[in-house]
Amino acid sequence: MSEIKNGITMLGTGSPRPDLERSGPAQVLHINGMPILIDCGEGTTAQLLKANIPPENVNVLMFTHLHSDHFFGYGQFLLGGWGRGRRELTVVGPKGIKEFHETVINMFKDDIAYRVSLGRPENGVLDVNIIEFDEPGEVSVDIPAKVSIDEMVHNVPTFGFRFEMDNNVIVFSGDTAPTPNIVNLAQGADILVQDGCLAKTGIYRNTTDPELLKIWENLQKEHCTPGQAGDIAQEAGVKKLVMTHFLPNVIPEEVKEEAEEQFDGESIVGEDLMEISV
Ligand SMILES: [Zn+2]
Ligand SMILES: [Zn+2]
Repeated sequence: MSEIKNGITMLGTGSPRPDLERSGPAQVLHINGMPILIDCGEGTTAQLLKANIPPENVNVLMFTHLHSDHFFGYGQFLLGGWGRGRRELTVVGPKGIKEFHETVINMFKDDIAYRVSLGRPENGVLDVNIIEFDEPGEVSVDIPAKVSIDEMVHNVPTFGFRFEMDNNVIVFSGDTAPTPNIVNLAQGADILVQDGCLAKTGIYRNTTDPELLKIWENLQKEHCTPGQAGDIAQEAGVKKLVMTHFLPNVIPEEVKEEAEEQFDGESIVGEDLMEISV
């Protein structure tokens, strides 16, 4: 079991671009030892195992938005966790999450029927509790925290999450361009896990290719630079900024430096399997 009681585990700090160093976007929030999964990118189940968080012990999964890089790992998490003995699961996410879940169940219906015929109970896979939301405010989830959400700036409905526990506050931005909503949501947080995707790196560094330049320009409307992540953390007065959602070959020192120019608190460049306690 993971040693961490209160805090986060960064499971995947990557982006839609496949990357051996960074798994697809996913993180775990630990509340008094209870793991809450936030997003479920490619490789999430393997990352849970590496982090010593048994997937069958994760009974709540919350999606920030329905982009492929944030849900590629769902089929494996759903069926693999059930296979290991999970008998209860609640999935929370923006409107559309129910249809998404039903599509996955439908895709695997013969497979599930086969495993049920072997003698496995249906609980935990055919009775998943789905909670959809489509407006900012509070979301009622059966976990020991107050959960507030607000809309981010991205090209599909995307929500940032604020978790208020007894002794600490942890906020996840999801994917977003700079917006006052994340500054408000993150006010005074102990930890802010923030999109810092737009570190000018890899294929985008020093390019003159007009196609790449066009994509880079368009990405500015969807994500934050590390400097903008630092700005948000500074304005919100958070204690620790943990940046994530990186493209391949990002240079961590540069990301940290860029954020530190804006933010007086602790700037952390997220890495897969990094654990941060509060
Ligand atoms: Zn996205
Ligand atoms: Zn993403």
